[in-house]
Amino acid sequence: MASLSPVKLLFLYATIAVGSTLQHRYAARDCCATLSKVLPGRVSFKNSTIYDLSLSSYWAEQETQLHPACIVNALTTDDVSKAIHILTPPYQAASVPFAVRAGGHGKSGASNIQGGVVIDLSALNSVNISHAKRTVTIGAGAKWGDVYKVLDPLGLTVPGGRSTDVGVGGLSLAGGVSYLAPRVGLAVDQIVGVQMVLASGKVVNTHDRQYADLDKAIRGGSNNFGVATEFEVICTASNGSYGGVIYYPLNTTEQQLQAIHNFTADTSYDENATALLSFGYSNAEAVALNNIAYVSPVTSPPKKLRQFTEIPSLFSTLRAATIFELANETAAASPHGFRQATFTLTFYNDLALMHEVFALWNSTYPPLASIKGLSFSFSLEPLPRAILEKTGHDMLNLQDESEPLILYLLSATWQNSADDDAVYSSALNLLQTTERRAEAMKKLHPFQYIGYADRSQKPLASYGEANMRFMRRVSQKYDPAQVFQRSVPGGFKLHDADW
Ligand SMILES: Cc1cc2nc3c(=O)[nH]c(=O)nc-3n(C[C@H](O)[C@H](O)[C@H](O)COP(=O)(O)OP(=O)(O)OC[C@H]3O[C@@H](n4cnc5c(N)ncnc54)[C@H](O)[C@@H]3O)c2cc1C
Repeated sequence: MASLSPVKLLFLYATIAVGSTLQHRYAARDCCATLSKVLPGRVSFKNSTIYDLSLSSYWAEQETQLHPACIVNALTTDDVSKAIHILTPPYQAASVPFAVRAGGHGKSGASNIQGGVVIDLSALNSVNISHAKRTVTIGAGAKWGDVYKVLDPLGLTVPGGRSTDVGVGGLSLAGGVSYLAPRVGLAVDQIVGVQMVLASGKVVNTHDRQYADLDKAIRGGSNNFGVATEFEVICTASNGSYGGVIYYPLNTTEQQLQAIHNFTADTSYDENATALLSFGYSNAEAVALNNIAYVSPVTSPPKKLRQFTEIPSLFSTLRAATIFELANETAAASPHGFRQATFTLTFYNDLALMHEVFALWNSTYPPLASIKGLSFSFSLEPLPRAILEKTGHDMLNLQDESEPLILYLLSATWQNSADDDAVYSSALNLLQTTERRAEAMKKLHPFQYIGYADRSQKPLASYGEANMRFMRRVSQKYDPAQVFQRSVPGGFKLHDADW
């Protein structure tokens, strides 16, 4: 064969790439036609009300701008199974690219797909308490607000999102840090079993002993193994709670950092108490704020939280409140309709590092201040031993960590796509500088929480080589054609790691 010049080669590759994208589009269109015959009334197309409603209900504005060829609005597990059957071989010569969507709070195409098919689980939102009230079975498309509305009046709760608007599906397969975490561990650790549709279309319950490997791999494995349609979760008694947000002037930073450090390090940690300290710039003002919760019926701040409540504040919403009310306050503070980016790291609980992290953030946002709708913040979220020691039924690899940790969440929100590059590159640069600083101080922990991670990060690899290899083996066993690796591109994939 005559040799091709680099330019011709490039042209050939580009033609193949465009050809394969077009092929996927045609395949998706044909597939949508079949889906709407097999699932009448459950498949929606562009310019229909249901399609538009589904698209506009994503949290991040970037997600609302991806246009799938069609959306399968599944009403039952059987609908999901039929959809997967039609999307994959042997029904198709090659799998049609698709996305799995629950609460829609993912980013960067995690749960939407341009030109492909979206399986929207939003209507799978039932919440059913077991007869003995020991467990609750929750549809994967429910939002945490749906769950708390049912459980609060019964004096029960489960570890779930601290925003009523976040989805059960995404958070439960990610990890799930909650108000209840010091008492019972992460959300993944309180799951009894998950009903799942595998790549073959087969429906399994991971609680069955024969699926013990799958049951472990999905806890932190996100959308890599199948579509979860129902979660059975252990209930915890909860007769009331207390909490809210305290807003402080930025000149209290020294006291804030000292308090969150002491709170995290406390060897007699109060397992009802959680705090999430943030520093944010928004509406031409920078403030510190602390999201405090106490999962027990008190009417004033308990002792361990007083180190936060006694710092002079601007105002506070602390009050006796239900879990729903606390989580609804967070939802109101993170509205839809904005462009979003979030990044994460994990640190050891080190006061000197916290000061550096604050200083880096404090010097990053001022040049961005004129960007429309900008909110630029970071949060320090304690992972005390009380939480870490209750993990381990999962892939996250935190159970043996003897030191308390701090989850770092960097968040940027803005209005216009014209500012995407400016905001994203500043945030990414801040993340990388912060990471290098923590590493130089030997205070960087490898864990990256998949629920907060940016597309540039590798949260699955952060679980460690052994867990990654285990997840890959499980994936090969239950998905030999690797449908969830190759044809579900959203989110983080098992080949992301270097080994
Ligand atoms: C405002 C806000 C508050 C948050 N609060 C918390 C918090 O308190 N604690 C915490 O731990 N995290 C929190 N998060 C992070 C949250 O856990 C993740 O963003 C999570 O992925 C959202 O899940 P979702 O179902 O809403 O999103 P989606 O976008 O629907 O899904 C996210 C990912 O999970 C996959 N997925 C979803 N459902 C399924 C399923 N049933 N089967 C297979 N794959 C599935 C999707 O394909 C996608 O890749 C918060 C995020 C935001 C934006």
